[in-house]
Amino acid sequence: MKSLSLLVLFFALPQISFAQQADPLASDYFTVKPVVPGVWALIVKQRAPSLAVSNAAVIELGDKVMIIDSHLTPSAAREAARLIAVMTNNKSVRYLVNTHWHPDHIQGNSTYSSSFPGVLDIISHTNTRRDIVSIEIPFLKDQKQLLPKQIADFKSRLAIGKVDGRPMTDTQKRQLEGQIAQAEALFKEIENLEIALPTLTLDRSMTLHAGDRQVQILYFGRGHTEGDVVVFLPKEKVLVTGDLVTNGIPLMRDAFPVEWSATLAGVEKLDYTQTIPGHGDVQQGKERLQMLRAFLDDLITAVRRAVEAGRTLDEAKASVKAELAPKHEKNFPSWNAASEAAITRAYNHLATTRR
Ligand SMILES: [Zn+2]
Repeated sequence: MKSLSLLVLFFALPQISFAQQADPLASDYFTVKPVVPGVWALIVKQRAPSLAVSNAAVIELGDKVMIIDSHLTPSAAREAARLIAVMTNNKSVRYLVNTHWHPDHIQGNSTYSSSFPGVLDIISHTNTRRDIVSIEIPFLKDQKQLLPKQIADFKSRLAIGKVDGRPMTDTQKRQLEGQIAQAEALFKEIENLEIALPTLTLDRSMTLHAGDRQVQILYFGRGHTEGDVVVFLPKEKVLVTGDLVTNGIPLMRDAFPVEWSATLAGVEKLDYTQTIPGHGDVQQGKERLQMLRAFLDDLITAVRRAVEAGRTLDEAKASVKAELAPKHEKNFPSWNAASEAAITRAYNHLATTRR
């Protein structure tokens, strides 16, 4: 029996690996999901290598292609471009939309502009272009200097092999080795990286027409950043949201929490049935947007009350989190950290405007 199963395995294995290699849409970075004919989501895989971080959407426009967002690194953008060539039978990428300025949505821009020179336009909101210049490019410059120092620091800690005077456990060592590998991989990617800036900007809306396909790029106000645009296909009822809507509580660090819900109210009025978010899987219906709106509304009400009652930030974090948990905790992964970040950002906004 044993030798028979080994024999089966021996013959089965090469076929399995051949089948995997033969699928040109197989990728370590992304799962390719057809959404409607000529529209795909590139959903980033959670496991390593985590050099992509954010999703992308791909839209065929006649004999050209539009991609929405360009990932954290050139290697992820190259992989997305390879998949696009397979999906569209080698059509060239004519438009790249940056939904907002965060590094995991724009650091692959230059990969596309050098792959499609003289052809590609990069489209963003006016505020996004401004923030890439004033925030992201200085941040990248700092990161180029800081990462080698951080890697050296990690390595010396590993060589010393102690945490708080005690020898490191095997788990701690493996974690540190993982951090070193991750930081080294990222540094290799950004060492010589220059960001390609948007070449076309909009303040409210822009519509692209190609045959019977219409693509609208729309701005509804401040939310996750000051320049989030959504991409909407009215006929196909598909919406691409960047990080205005994700599958959780989106990163709040640069957000405008008080205005976010009103911005989403504008988005919600669009007639769409499927969403490709900046992070997480393709969504059906409007439920995730509505969950986020309900959370943001309750967040602002509760934090405003805490500020008016004169509570400190730490007191507000505890009381607001407890108040919101029964209704909202089940709807959002990483509830503790994500809700605290949201409370902090809302508190800082409301406490400053009150003064
Ligand atoms: Zn973001």
